[in-house]
Parts: sequence; C-alpha cells; structure tokens
Amino acid sequence: MKYIFYSLIVLLFVSGCSDDPVGPAPVIEAVAPLNGNAGTSVTLAGKNFTSSSVVLFNGVKGTTHFRSDKLLIANVPAGASSGNITIQSSGHHVDFRYPFEVLATAPTASHTFYLHSNNRVASMLLPVTEYNVFNDISCPLDLYQQILHDVYNKFEDDFDFLFLIHNNETRPNKDIYGYNRWISNAVEGIGIQRFDYAGDYGSSGRLKSIITMPTRNGLVTGPLLHEIMHTWANSAFPTENINAATGEVYNSSGHWGMSGCGGALGGFAGVLEENVGSHPDKYRIDLNIANGYSNFELYLMGLIGPEELTPFDVFYDLVSLQMDVLEAKTRVRYTREKIETDLGLRVPAYTEAQKEFKGLVLVITTIPLSTDEFNRFDQQVDQFFKPADEGTALVNFWEATQGLGLIQAGNLSQSMKE
Ligand SMILES: [Zn+2]
Repeated sequence: MKYIFYSLIVLLFVSGCSDDPVGPAPVIEAVAPLNGNAGTSVTLAGKNFTSSSVVLFNGVKGTTHFRSDKLLIANVPAGASSGNITIQSSGHHVDFRYPFEVLATAPTASHTFYLHSNNRVASMLLPVTEYNVFNDISCPLDLYQQILHDVYNKFEDDFDFLFLIHNNETRPNKDIYGYNRWISNAVEGIGIQRFDYAGDYGSSGRLKSIITMPTRNGLVTGPLLHEIMHTWANSAFPTENINAATGEVYNSSGHWGMSGCGGALGGFAGVLEENVGSHPDKYRIDLNIANGYSNFELYLMGLIGPEELTPFDVFYDLVSLQMDVLEAKTRVRYTREKIETDLGLRVPAYTEAQKEFKGLVLVITTIPLSTDEFNRFDQQVDQFFKPADEGTALVNFWEATQGLGLIQAGNLSQSMKE
C-alpha cells in the first residue's frame, strides 16, 4: 500500500515537470471518417484545439493541420494500427470515444458506413463541416452529388428510392418538413417529361428520387407519404389554393390545391353539394380526405388502372373558402377521358407498372449512432415499410396504397459492396 502511494507521488512529480496541462482540455465531438488507410484525411471537430494540437492514431502521430479551435484535419500515418484516436495538446491527452480502424488499402467509399444488424437501415458518417453544408437544402449541387456518389461506392445500384434521414433533433429550416429530389422518370401519362439525372448521383438509371427527412423521427412523424407521392405528382394539371382566413389566392403548384382528388398532396375529397344558398359558384366540399393515397394518386403511381378512376373536380378563379363552402368561378371536371386526353395514356400501363420498389434508408450523422439510437431507426423503418398494418395510428406505405404497393427496405447487406 505504502509502495503504491510513493510511486504515485513520484509519477505525478515527473509528469508535472515535463508535461503540465496548460489551458482548457480539447474536446473531441466528432471524427470522420472512422476508418481509412495510411494517408486518409480525417476531420476532427470539437473545441479548444490549438495550433500545437497533434492527432495520434493508436499512439502514432499523424500529420496534423490546424484549421481553427474547433477543427483539425489529420492524415493517418504509415505504420499506424487500429485503436484510439487521440488529441495531444498542451499537456492534455484526450481520446475520442469511438476507435479508429486502420485499413490496409483505401476503402471503396471515402465515408464510413455502418449497417444495423437487422439489415434494413444504414448510417453514413459525415465530417461536421460537410454535414453542416449537406444539412441545408441549399447545399451546392456538386458537393451533394459527390456525397451521393460515395453512397454508390458503398452500395450497389439496387434502389428506386434513397431515404436520407438527417440526424437532427429539430428541423434546420423550420419551413421544410421534408423534400423530394427528382432524379429520373420513365413514366409517361402523368404530366412529367422523361428525364434521367441518375448518373450524376452514381446510379445508372434505377434511382427515381432522393427523399430527405430533416429530423431523426421523420420516418414516422414527417411527411414521408407526401414526399414519396411527389415522385409521380402533381404535374398533371395546374392548381390554385386559397387562404381561408385572408382570402389570398395562390398558386398551389405541385400539390392538389382546390382539387377533389385529395390525398397525400392535399386537396379535398369531393363535392358534397352544389348551388349552396342558391349560389351557382358555391360548393360544399368534403375536407375529410382519407388517410393514405387517393384514387387519382394510386392511378398516377401505377397501382390501379384507368377503369378504376373516379371523376373529380378542379376549381380555379377562387373567391372564398368559408368553413367547407368554396366559392369558385371555374370548375373543371376530370374524367378518365379528360385525364387520358390531356395527359396521354399511362406508360407503362397499370398491368405492367412497377408495384414493388426498393429503398435504402440511410441516416446521415456526424457521430456513430449508439445501439439504442440505431435500434430506434430500425424500428421506424420496420413500421413505415412493413407490408402490413403495423398496428399503430401510423399510416405506413402499404396501408396508404391499400396493400397494392410495397417499398422493400431490407436485405441491405446483399447490396453492400464490401
Ligand atoms: Zn409537397
């Protein structure tokens, strides 16, 4: 006991002489990537970094570039092995809480990816600086595409949809609940031209949309059904909407506005009564749209045929909306004939149309997900994509399509390149 006491004193004395910590200790909040071979550039984010800070890879010094007190860039040194990543700075030694894996050769992807054990959700680690840019809807397209290319360095071109779930507690832009980037369209008769930008993102043409949910609960609380529907709609016809409180009429482009085909993209369910109060321009409308996708939405998606279309009305020259009474000067009736005349026949036709899709759910994060966090994402994926009523109030994709459509989110390990 005495011996240990004395040797501790000596140790403190010796270390105090040579390496007394000065100033606040560095704090490492995030490191990315968390694997790489010799030479790989690694970004460390945190605070209290100084120009004398040095990054060690399992004890071996890496070339360190000081960018700011919050940012260091270090290169994996030759001869390093897997283990702690450490900052040595003014007598402080601080380890990051996740280890760094040193690889013999460069990985196929420059970012670090993790796959959950249930095989239906993965995560992608972005350096904080890159994440902050990527997290914003105005992320420059070249950086956006470069990051997406790296997804395809890691995964095969097996997906119709990429679902990017940003690991934020709250929305970075309070007005944006989710968004859909159109990547390619090969369907005719829905009002959208054929186009194919998939190559710019690393897909050879299979990818249709990249759907972003800006918060970590977006899969089950965000407008995911809505964003998925944007892959096919609305480009079928122009729409107007009206602010019931102010009477302001506005272009409702991309959504259903004051249309009776209401579903995931807004609109209403139909006209209940004409000539309300003997006024020829007043209609009582059914504002109770069903959960999930409407009849016309299912048609555009290719899940029902034209013979199943229910006619509906689209209103223009809107005057007012008081409770459920709409006053509008123009009413356009959309029947199967008008839809097929205006838009052309849907190609591929319902019988040939794709009804099963494959999606990759990828959590975008700056630090690796804890087991609990990863499990929560996995449960959300299960809820939203399960081909069954999953037993909660959530309307999942299968329920929204009345069991006619399926997005398969599992078996991700089969699509991973290494
Ligand atoms: Zn929308």
